[in-house]
Amino acid sequence: MRYISTRGQAPALGFEDVVLTGLASDGGLYVPETLPQFSAEELTAMAGESYAEIAFRVMKPFVDGAIDDETFRELVRETYATFSHDAVVPLNQLDSNHYLLELFHGPTLAFKDVALQLLGRLLDHFLAKRGERAVIMGATSGDTGSAAIEGCRACDHVDIFILHPHNRVSEVQRRQMTSVLAPNVFNVAIEGNFDDAQAMVKASFADQDFLDGTRLVAVNSINWARIMAQTVYYVAAGVALGAPARQVSFTVPSANFGNIFAGYLASRMGLPVRQLVIATNANDILHRTISSNDFSRQELKATLAPSMDIVVSSNFERLLFEAYGRDGQAIRELLEHFSREPAALADAPLARLRELFSSHSVDDETILEVIREAHQRTGEILDPHTATGYRAAEVCRTDTATPMITLATAHPAKFAEAVARAGFAGVDLPPHLHDLLEREERYSVLPAELAAVQDFVRENRRG
Ligand SMILES: *Cc1c(COP(=O)(O)O)cnc(C)c1O
Repeated sequence: MRYISTRGQAPALGFEDVVLTGLASDGGLYVPETLPQFSAEELTAMAGESYAEIAFRVMKPFVDGAIDDETFRELVRETYATFSHDAVVPLNQLDSNHYLLELFHGPTLAFKDVALQLLGRLLDHFLAKRGERAVIMGATSGDTGSAAIEGCRACDHVDIFILHPHNRVSEVQRRQMTSVLAPNVFNVAIEGNFDDAQAMVKASFADQDFLDGTRLVAVNSINWARIMAQTVYYVAAGVALGAPARQVSFTVPSANFGNIFAGYLASRMGLPVRQLVIATNANDILHRTISSNDFSRQELKATLAPSMDIVVSSNFERLLFEAYGRDGQAIRELLEHFSREPAALADAPLARLRELFSSHSVDDETILEVIREAHQRTGEILDPHTATGYRAAEVCRTDTATPMITLATAHPAKFAEAVARAGFAGVDLPPHLHDLLEREERYSVLPAELAAVQDFVRENRRG
């Protein structure tokens, strides 16, 4: 399988290079040159298989040739053995035809584990094969950092440095990162805010020489392997509920658009998907674009669903590329316009998107109301991100005969403060994290200065 850039000017790459590369050299994102197709027979045959086996079958065409089947199957099996539920991502039926797909049974209690547990193993595999080492650097306001650390803690060939704003992440989120005492994991608390941390990571990627030749790798949501890993649970949930004989719909709490873009790919690969519903919080660029063709930036708002607080959705470019008939030049022009001022999509691509996608935005007050209402109706306590999905699914579904699957992207205990504000204090952490607040922590506090951070990385990386 070869991968091409959404902006049409970077060289095509194979799977291994795509995993080790972030952004394409023309500023675009990599997508597969052609999409694999699963026949009705192949989909039917997946029903009843283990999650790891479905994952192997769905991802095999994307990996094609880069890892032999036996090794890849074992790697996938190990990846999903880290989840605490036997079904990995169980379906939970809420009412006669609305389901929650629980994506929060991984080590850090959010859906990002599904992809980052695999990405860490893929990186380590390719680096070992090449006899190379790599450094991962990332900035986090909470969620991604811990999932990346858990994904890489056992990697022999990777050292990971995660920057978080000192005293500005919740205690649970900090401890999920700083209590991982593996020798290749380095947490840095920056005396500044998230933007300061992010700026230092960006500057380091722009100037990789500070590592004297060691590769610097990004594990943010534009990494292709993350999208690939996420297509699996759409297929697994779909076949569990009767696809391909029956259509299914999905609602996805969305921000950078990596999660729901994987659902779009699953539909293009043969899964019969009736609707894809985009749920946003008050940071609603996706909703404004789909519902009123207002593709423009607005100021960032801090909400009760902080993992969805974004201004621009980086992976939306991948969908635009498809909607514009894979015309890299059109994408370059549209995004160039968007970088300067409010933009709008052309009529035909927008109409194409609206055939499959609908959207709804949920503000903070409504999030609290939905948590209470969903509990009253179903007995479930939703986390604030999943609550946006629950509401959007109800508002947007066009037909109640098709099963609606809302993606539960985080465990409620991870966002205990918001859940307590809705009236549910004391949601317990799952057993594997029950002693999190007593565990030993390790992290370094550094000033918000690029030289200090780069010196720290240089001195502490291994090998
Ligand atoms: C990252 C995240 C999201 C948003 O996912 P995208 O792929 O960026 O759209 C939603 N909910 C939770 C809990 C997250 O951590």
